[in-house]
Amino acid sequence: MNRRSFFQSVGAFIGAAALLPIVARAEGRRGGGGSAAAAGAALVDPKDRQAQSVNYVEINTQIKDKSLMSARSGVEFKNQKCKGCAFYDVSKETTVGGKKAGPCQMPFAAGKAVTAEGWCSSWAKKA
Ligand code: SF4
Repeated sequence: MNRRSFFQSVGAFIGAAALLPIVARAEGRRGGGGSAAAAGAALVDPKDRQAQSVNYVEINTQIKDKSLMSARSGVEFKNQKCKGCAFYDVSKETTVGGKKAGPCQMPFAAGKAVTAEGWCSSWAKKA
């Protein structure tokens, strides 16, 4: 490597390093991980129209409609809870209003948290 290409490489490296914090801040503003809720986010209100459209409840025993209580992927209804759902991010689980809760990828929960014991009709077994 000659002197000129050495300085070009160093310059490119420094330029990229200088941009990293700017890119990271932009990612943070966009949410980075899609619709994931930040720690301390409010809980989804089960009375919200969008939440009602998917039968969201904070505790899965609150579901009374037997037609919704079917086994899925070999999991009995009583064991279907947000914390075991493919759309629930356990890694970001926190406590909200005294309840364990975390982000859910479904649009109705964008920017909010669903309870770990909750359920909705989009429940899918975590892989
Ligand atoms: S999609 Fe899964 S994590 Fe989200 S509310 Fe429904 S059951 Fe809970």
